[in-house]
Amino acid sequence: MGAPADDLDLIGRRTAQRTSVVRALIDHGDFVGARTLHGVLRTQGARVGLNTVYRTLAALVDAGRADVVRDRGGERLFRHRPFPEHQHYLLCRACGLSMPVDSDAVEAWAERVAAASGFGEVEHTVELSGLCPRCRTS
Ligand SMILES: [Zn+2]
Ligand SMILES: [Zn+2]
Repeated sequence: MGAPADDLDLIGRRTAQRTSVVRALIDHGDFVGARTLHGVLRTQGARVGLNTVYRTLAALVDAGRADVVRDRGGERLFRHRPFPEHQHYLLCRACGLSMPVDSDAVEAWAERVAAASGFGEVEHTVELSGLCPRCRTS
């Protein structure tokens, strides 16, 4: 599960650059912006352009293999999703901590709306953000 090879099959054209982006995202383990990930790759000596990082991350999101949230400044942050079901997170706007949250109510609501509307392939994005307990007390 979560093997880079599987992810690369999903996002199409397999290149050394894309492989290194997917690996870097998996290694990072938490939400990360494209620019930060690009910086990590550069320090590792990988010759990957920022556009390739953006495109690969977007392709992973489209393939359902990455979750995306927005930080305080509106930048998109990405995290590799090792399991097939999608997941919602509560993100701390101060320190960037992300916590998976139970979203059964959201999933049930989304399915109901899709069934009632007659729409197919309905997707949803729900982002929750706030201040984590540690940041609230500091
Ligand atoms: Zn925090
Ligand atoms: Zn959901």
